[in-house]
This record gives sequence, C-alpha cells and structure tokens, in this order.
Amino acid sequence: KAFAEIDLGEALNLNIGRCKYVRPTPVQRHAIPIAIAGRDLMACAQTGSGKTAAFCFPIICGIMKNRSSFRAKGAVAAARWGRNVACPIALILSPTRELSCQIHEEAKKFAYQTGVRVAVAYGGAPMGHQLRELEKGVDILVATPGRLVDLIERARVSLKMINYLTLDEADRMLDMGFEPQIRKIVEQMDMPPPGARQTMLFSATFPTEIQRLASDFLSNYIFLAV
Ligand code: AMP
Repeated sequence: KAFAEIDLGEALNLNIGRCKYVRPTPVQRHAIPIAIAGRDLMACAQTGSGKTAAFCFPIICGIMKNRSSFRAKGAVAAARWGRNVACPIALILSPTRELSCQIHEEAKKFAYQTGVRVAVAYGGAPMGHQLRELEKGVDILVATPGRLVDLIERARVSLKMINYLTLDEADRMLDMGFEPQIRKIVEQMDMPPPGARQTMLFSATFPTEIQRLASDFLSNYIFLAV
C-alpha cells in the first residue's frame, strides 16, 4: 500500500515525495487512518519505526482541513490573551531536547508550504530565541514538559486552543520524572466534551503507569501494537 492511497491531501503528498517516503511503515499504515478518523490512539512504537510521521501527518492534515474554524478561534484567543501569548492548536510532548529538535525538524519538512507553523521549546537553553519564534505564531508546538510548564507560568503559551495532543515516548517521560509536569500541562487544556480533543500516546512499553495515563487522558481509544 502506498501513501497515495491514504487521503492526506496534495500538499502533504508532495512533501512525502520530497522526503522520499514511498511506502508507509507499519505504524504509519495503521495509525494514520485511525488518527484521521479522529480517534484517540495509544500506540506501541519504537524509535526508528516512523512514528514521527505517524502522528505529524494527521495533525497537519487536520489543521489544514479546519483552517477557517481555527483562524476564527485564534482571533478570539488573541483578543482575550493578547498577541504575545502563543496559542498552538497541536502540542507534541517529548522527553528530551534532542528528540524535540528531531521532531521539530521533521515536522517542518512535512508542513512545508502548507501554511502550518511549527515551533519548538526545550529546557537547558536560553528562552530568548524560543520566545521570538513563538511570537511569530505557532500551530504545532513541540516541547519538553519542564520548559513548557515554565512558558505557561510566564504566560507566554496558552493551551486553551489545543485540539491535538501527542505524548511521544511516554514511558521515557515517566522514567525521567515528568509525570507531575505532564498532568499540570493537560490540566491547562480546556475541558472539552469527550472526544473534542484528540490525544495520541506513543510508548515503547506499557507498564501500569502508562495505562493509567492513557485512561486519564484518552477517551475511547484504539490500542495499536505493531
Ligand atoms: P522515526 O521513528 O519517526 O524517528 O523515523 C525514523 C526514520 O525513518 C526517520 O529518519 C524518518 O525520516 C524515516 N522514515 C519515516 N517514515 C518513513 C517511510 N515511510 N519511508 C522511508 N523512511 C521513513
């Protein structure tokens, strides 16, 4: 099965071609249609499985499809919180600076010429450059949990507009002690009716702590093990 058989739209298909991806990997083949259908997803995926594209493609696709309604909500948010508070539509949480930068680089390639804006925020680096990027406007924010909490507390990021939440390498985030920050972050999101926020959780392992996160943050989710 080729990417062209999954309805991702012309812009995204062009970028997939530019990346020289021909066939979806197993996690992409299964996760992308589930995510495009709007379902929450808990997926078992290792590094190197192609999971970055598996969660980025449906997010980019969804933002493009709902552009006009997101723009209208964005204008309301800007009026309420001011223009220097970034209000992303999608949040991708990842455990480390390295992984966040990697996801950011890939997401930028996937979003090329789609109008979807991607930014990254991670700890252990000065905030200045990240703040300037956020001020330009961001649709998809890739972030490590600690830095994101910091940005929320400084009122530089608001999560009230988040429609898509992805937790990448969730097991590693818990191993690194990020559970309190993750819970704080999810609490920041407006409590929508079930299913209004789409959540995807990727993890290499499924200990009880991960299952608890899934039952707390996901609704009526599909479990995918490839
Ligand atoms: P990831 O697991 O997302 O870190 O991806 C691992 C590597 O595989 C990255 O270098 C991707 O660019 C590459 N990759 C992802 N999906 C595909 C695909 N469908 N075809 C070829 N390469 C891919």
